[in-house]
Amino acid sequence: MKLNELTAHQAYIGLRKKEFSSTEITKACLDQIKKVDKKIGAFVTVTDDLALEQAKIADEKIAQGEELKPLEGIPCAIKDNILIEGERCTCSSKILENYRATYNAGVIKKLKEQGAVFLGKTNMDEFAMGSSTEHSAFKKTKNPHDLTRVPGGSSGGSAAAVASNMCIYALGADTGSSVRQPAAFCGVVGMKPTYGRVSRYGLVAMASSLDQIGPITKDMEDTALVLREISGPDAKDSTCVQYSVPDYTEAIPWGIENIRVGVIKEYFEEGVDKEVSDLVKKAIKELKRLGAKISEVSLPHTMYALPCYYIIMPAEVSANLARYDGIRYGYSKVKAKNLLDVYLSSRAKGLGDEVRRRIMLGTFALSTGYYEAYYDKAQRVRTKIKREYDDIFRDFDVLIGPTAPTPAFKLGERIKDPLTMYMSDVLTVSANISGMPAISLPCGFVKRENKKLPVGLQIMGDHFKEEMVIRVASSYELRERAE
Ligand code: GLN
Repeated sequence: MKLNELTAHQAYIGLRKKEFSSTEITKACLDQIKKVDKKIGAFVTVTDDLALEQAKIADEKIAQGEELKPLEGIPCAIKDNILIEGERCTCSSKILENYRATYNAGVIKKLKEQGAVFLGKTNMDEFAMGSSTEHSAFKKTKNPHDLTRVPGGSSGGSAAAVASNMCIYALGADTGSSVRQPAAFCGVVGMKPTYGRVSRYGLVAMASSLDQIGPITKDMEDTALVLREISGPDAKDSTCVQYSVPDYTEAIPWGIENIRVGVIKEYFEEGVDKEVSDLVKKAIKELKRLGAKISEVSLPHTMYALPCYYIIMPAEVSANLARYDGIRYGYSKVKAKNLLDVYLSSRAKGLGDEVRRRIMLGTFALSTGYYEAYYDKAQRVRTKIKREYDDIFRDFDVLIGPTAPTPAFKLGERIKDPLTMYMSDVLTVSANISGMPAISLPCGFVKRENKKLPVGLQIMGDHFKEEMVIRVASSYELRERAE
């Protein structure tokens, strides 16, 4: 096995036993980036100098016999909306093309304390708005399983980098789907933690009441490990809770005897590809065989989650993106007639179509006369959806369904049709609306044009019950061993 193909927990063992060095794993990843990223396009910036310097520090520590931390010396990729001090942070937008971060995000601070190695920043839909990474102002990322298809989005660069072994693991961020859906499309694991579990400090805000950073990994053990290391309180983010963080890796061998699994009826209805739902149903049978108690549940408010999301999210987007005014950050049209012209022309030139569309929709939904009809109503619906989930978790430990209604679609297929693009999020937005944790893990492949495309199984849990989600997901992942 090549070093860049390792998982983080495998790399940790090898580093401890001195079978290889951090510099060797880092170089293996950088070589793989050089070799395949021309065709995949996962990275916006490769921070090779930083990575090699961090790897050297880790190797020196190992040589001095210092105790190795679990993620020490292990190379990862970071979505380009998470700040690393001194490095470029573009959000794949022209307006931030040359912006350099002046501080570290909360999660980066935690990973730095671990001694992690940062390989670079990954491509995304501009400001995380999209489901295919095609809305990046810089390049289109391709799906490693079929280069004519999208990797999903908005964290498409991170998911494609993990799937093509250009890094050991990656961080993404999920506002409506952006960790789970690209993980599903690329055949890797992606988890959105409970809102408030992981600090959002230094994550460039899209919709602040929905955004959450999460790990994208090659297996469940790495998800548990990375989540444990990035979770926990942060004085700089008041929405990040003070609860202590359990050791999620401990949940892996617990098994799922008598665990109550609710299969959400509405997640298998109209618009969901038959082969996708068949694979998910097959996975559910496996959970039953492993001892879980399976029942069907109906969540009638599910159909309102997507429209509710597409009002609340743009409303927050319109407020959050007001700061890109051509003065405080990034691109500025210098030859402007007056101040208003600076604002208008910097934003018109610096922001892409999809971002502008959402700013307009959001501004409209918040404007006098429409506020009550749209924003206020959507907030009430949000409460109803959240209550429906709170109630259901009295009777169930986890809920289950597909991550996305279809496998990866073709590049260009939905770019001109925003509504069809938005439909990709229909099964994932509920977790952001309610705040609950949710994971996507691979559950098989469907065949399209002689290519095997991965399908994701989605498991959702009650607030701050990540260990239950991880327990069920890893039992499924390790099912063969349970025989
Ligand atoms: N695809 C969703 C959107 O376009 C979600 C994006 C995200 O999670 N950042 O809004």
